[in-house]
Amino acid sequence: MRPPNYYTAPGFERAGLRRRDSDWIRAAITDAAAQFVPVWRSQNLVVEVTGGEPRAIVLTGDHAALLLEGDPAAHLEHGGVVFLGVIEERPHFALDLSHVETPLETLASPALAASGIPADGSRFADLRQLAGGLARPEGALLALARAMLHWHQRHRFCGVCGSPTSSEEAGHMRLCTNADCKTMHFPRTDPAVIMLVSDGERALLGRNKNFPPGMYSTLAGFVEPGESLEDAVAREVREETAIEVKSVAYHSSQPWPFPGNIMLGFHAEAATSEITVDYGELEDARWYERDWLLQHADDNSFRLPRLDSIARRLVEDWLHRRAGPGAV
Ligand SMILES: [Zn+2]
Repeated sequence: MRPPNYYTAPGFERAGLRRRDSDWIRAAITDAAAQFVPVWRSQNLVVEVTGGEPRAIVLTGDHAALLLEGDPAAHLEHGGVVFLGVIEERPHFALDLSHVETPLETLASPALAASGIPADGSRFADLRQLAGGLARPEGALLALARAMLHWHQRHRFCGVCGSPTSSEEAGHMRLCTNADCKTMHFPRTDPAVIMLVSDGERALLGRNKNFPPGMYSTLAGFVEPGESLEDAVAREVREETAIEVKSVAYHSSQPWPFPGNIMLGFHAEAATSEITVDYGELEDARWYERDWLLQHADDNSFRLPRLDSIARRLVEDWLHRRAGPGAV
C-alpha cells in the first residue's frame, strides 16, 4: 500500500460521536493526557531539531491554561478551543492563541521551559513554508487545527441574519444566537480540481506569476455551483490553455488547509494540442516531454511543485506510470 497524500493521517480518530457529549468533552479537556495544538494567527508552532527538520510542538493543559490565563474549557464556547480527535487514547484540541501578543515569550518562560518546551528554535510558522518537512501525522494534525480555527475566525457572525454565532459540538458547528434564526453553520471545505493533462508522452504544465522562479505545475481551479468534477476539469483546462480534454480519470485527493480546500486530483487526456494561454490566469503553459522531465533536476530554470503537494504526486505518478494511492 502506497502512502496517502500528505496532510492526511489514516490512524487519526476524529471521535465525531463524542462532540455532542459535553460531559465527555469537558472531562477530556481536563484529562492530564490531553494535548493542545497551538495556532497563532494561522501559524503553527514548530521547533527545528538537529538537521533542520521541523517538529510540531503540542502543549499540555497546564501550558494552555498559562497561555490563556484561565481554564481552556472556558474557550470552547467561542471556538478558541476545538476538539480535534483522539490519538493513542489522548484527546487533542486546537488552541487559538491569536489574541496573545507574544505567545513565544510566554512559552519561553522558565515555567514552560522547565517542562520541556524548547525555548531555542521554537517558532510559529506558516505550514505552507514547512513544505512537508514534518512527519506525516504531525503535518495532518497541524493542518486540521489550522483549518478549524480559520473557519471559526471567519464565521463569528451568522450569514443569514448577522447576529453573533456560538461554537457548539466542541467546535464542529456554529449556531446563530438569534432565537428567531438559530441557523446552524458547519465547517466548510471548498472543492478544487487539479489535473495533469497528458498528450501521449507529453504533459501540460503551467505557471502563474506568483510561483517561485522556474516552477511549473499542473492546472487547477475551483469547482463552480452546478458543475460536476469532470466538467470543472474540462472547463479549467479549456479556460487556461484552450486545450480540450477527452477523458478525465480520478486519481486521489488531498486536504489543503490554505485556507479551507480539498484538492481533487485527476489525470486527463488531451483531445487537442495547440495551447493558447489565458494570461489573466497564467504566465505560461507548455507541453513537457516525459523523458525530459525524468532527467531534469529541480533548479531555478525549471522545477516541479513542492513535495507535499498533490500536484507533485500527479506529475510523479504520470512520469512513472503509476495509479493513484487509493487504487488497487
Ligand atoms: Zn442568524
